[in-house]
Amino acid sequence: MSFDPKALRAEFPLLMLAQPPLHYLDNAATSQIHRSALKAMSDHDMFQRANIMRGTHRLAEAATAAYEDARARAAHFLNAATPDEVVFTSGATAALNLVAHSFGDTLRPGDEVMLSLAEHHSNLVPWQLLRERRGIVLRFLPLTADGRIDLAALADMLTPRCRLIALTHCSNVTGAITDVATVVAAAHGVGARVLLDGAQQVQHGPVDVQGLDIDFYAFSGHKCYGPNGIGVLWARGEVLAAMPPFLGGGGMVGEVTPEGSTFARPPQRFEAGTPAIAQAVGLGAVLAWLSMLPWRAIRAHENELLRRLLAGLRGRSDIRILGPVDLDARQPVVSFDIAGLHPHDVCQVLDRHGVALRGGHHCAQPLIRHFGLDGANRASIAMYTTQADIDALLDGLNDVVAVLR
Ligand code: PMP
Repeated sequence: MSFDPKALRAEFPLLMLAQPPLHYLDNAATSQIHRSALKAMSDHDMFQRANIMRGTHRLAEAATAAYEDARARAAHFLNAATPDEVVFTSGATAALNLVAHSFGDTLRPGDEVMLSLAEHHSNLVPWQLLRERRGIVLRFLPLTADGRIDLAALADMLTPRCRLIALTHCSNVTGAITDVATVVAAAHGVGARVLLDGAQQVQHGPVDVQGLDIDFYAFSGHKCYGPNGIGVLWARGEVLAAMPPFLGGGGMVGEVTPEGSTFARPPQRFEAGTPAIAQAVGLGAVLAWLSMLPWRAIRAHENELLRRLLAGLRGRSDIRILGPVDLDARQPVVSFDIAGLHPHDVCQVLDRHGVALRGGHHCAQPLIRHFGLDGANRASIAMYTTQADIDALLDGLNDVVAVLR
């Protein structure tokens, strides 16, 4: 399959319909939705809408089959051993909370969970809450000067009490990709499980959870060209099977009596209540589409734009880029500070140029503080981003300085 950025952009209705044209560079917060997801969702609700699992009429059977097909597509995208390892959640945050509650319930006081100072709050606060509930110990891997997770510290910080290393696969602030092989080797040395927060990775191509040899993977649909309100927790089958339920309700039980209940096998054990059925179907459609794309060409396109953006920002003495400035092991997410200018003001002025940027702490306060800041501007590139988008940002920055200084 060849890759034509212009033709591909036309598959994202909002970008085509936006008037005046929009330079959307807030993809790390939410990417635009691909037409395959929109069509799958509207088809589902027009022709197959019913509750799943419990019905025996034809519509319920069609809806159940579509939902399970979406699970299989997610499993294929992640190269999971079986679809039963895929749990649908409302998003990455819910997936991470599920692990912190359910896997967390198997931990004992004094057991350790290793995080890093680069984590999104979604992979930090649930573990702090678990610390309150169960008396576990949290350890935080430090950061290198350029804001990468400092894996050189891992050997000294790991103890036999470590049960889990939970890290971001890719930082939502710096774009830095974590060296998973080093983490997994260290974790295996002490019998710890490995969780990756893939919220910022999956929009840049399929993931091979078996090849990575990890135990948990979490991501959200709305950041990978799919619907919002839906996400995935993947967990290794044997790990998932040993986890107690988190939420209770319909669909996750076997036998229920006033005295107690037995629980369904995974993944149903972790999907209490009516799930976001149409959204799951939409996510399945977009993951099937993503699984077929020519990723080498897309990466080359994204990297070319990243190079242009980094060069444009580096050419300005008042701008400081947070994180790695080379193209090695990073995704096209770039946060930067403009000396003396508040990110919210910067984003407001850029909006007048039709440039959508994000400013703030990006739900990663420890990482932002590492750079001595309260907030930063962030531009994030997607497969449909064009040179014109990058140039509109770089031009807009001249105006930002003229207006705000
Ligand atoms: N982890 C990372 C690295 C993220 O960037 C985000 C979203 N900003 C999340 C987790 C949480 O995702 P969601 O809000 O979709 O649950």
